Amino acid sequence: MRKHIVAGNWKMNNGLSQTQALITDLKNQTKTSDAEVMIAPAFTNLWNAFESLRQDNIEVIAQNMHFAEDGAYTGEVSAGMLKSIGITTVILGHSERREYFNETDEALAKKVDAVLANGMRTIFCFGEELADRKAGNEEAVVESQIKNALFHLEADAFKSIVLAYEPVWAIGTGETATPEQAQDMHAFIRKTLADKYGAEVADSVSILYGGSVKPGNAQEIFSKPDVDGGLIGGASLKAADFFAIVNAF
Ligand code: PEP
Repeated sequence: MRKHIVAGNWKMNNGLSQTQALITDLKNQTKTSDAEVMIAPAFTNLWNAFESLRQDNIEVIAQNMHFAEDGAYTGEVSAGMLKSIGITTVILGHSERREYFNETDEALAKKVDAVLANGMRTIFCFGEELADRKAGNEEAVVESQIKNALFHLEADAFKSIVLAYEPVWAIGTGETATPEQAQDMHAFIRKTLADKYGAEVADSVSILYGGSVKPGNAQEIFSKPDVDGGLIGGASLKAADFFAIVNAF
């Protein structure tokens, strides 16, 4: 059975006091589903969030990291630094990182290697832009993103990889992929993995959907057989909304 996962990406939102307030609200929610729950606060709040949620079933994860172990990379944070404060999961390849910080598949491949070398796990994001979908190229784009960043890995590495399909046109836009569009792409992603690594590996990898998931649409999206959870942006900033999504399984 694949893991169900719901992860909240807080992006560049919430200072320390807002982070603490949201964490207090999260602690007051009741989980009725089997989903693993994660939140990704900004770097400055990771340690505080980690300490606050130590006893709770909410994993605190990072939004990004650098591929080097240490050195002259002003403004960056390494896998080892994250690990040193207890963080063992990191989001990589978010479309905002690709768009605003020019992250390429090649650079992301190095980041994935650094995650694995440090015994950590990643939620690896990818997805097509609107123009790709309009041109009918969405599968080709997604396939090349996966191949370029991940297909140098051995099959065993996929024990530490969660995939997140996030069509760029659906992120923060209020426009969601239909449950059918999500299912079709997730099935395609799983087939792409199966062709390279075999069905057993493909069937074991959790594939999350991200893009304007809300309490009102989560249940239908999560009901699809190849959708194993969600990466949630805007709706993760309100504890009740986030847990309504967590409990949609
Ligand atoms: C995201 O940023 O990963 C995301 C899915 O955002 P939103 O839920 O706001 O579309």
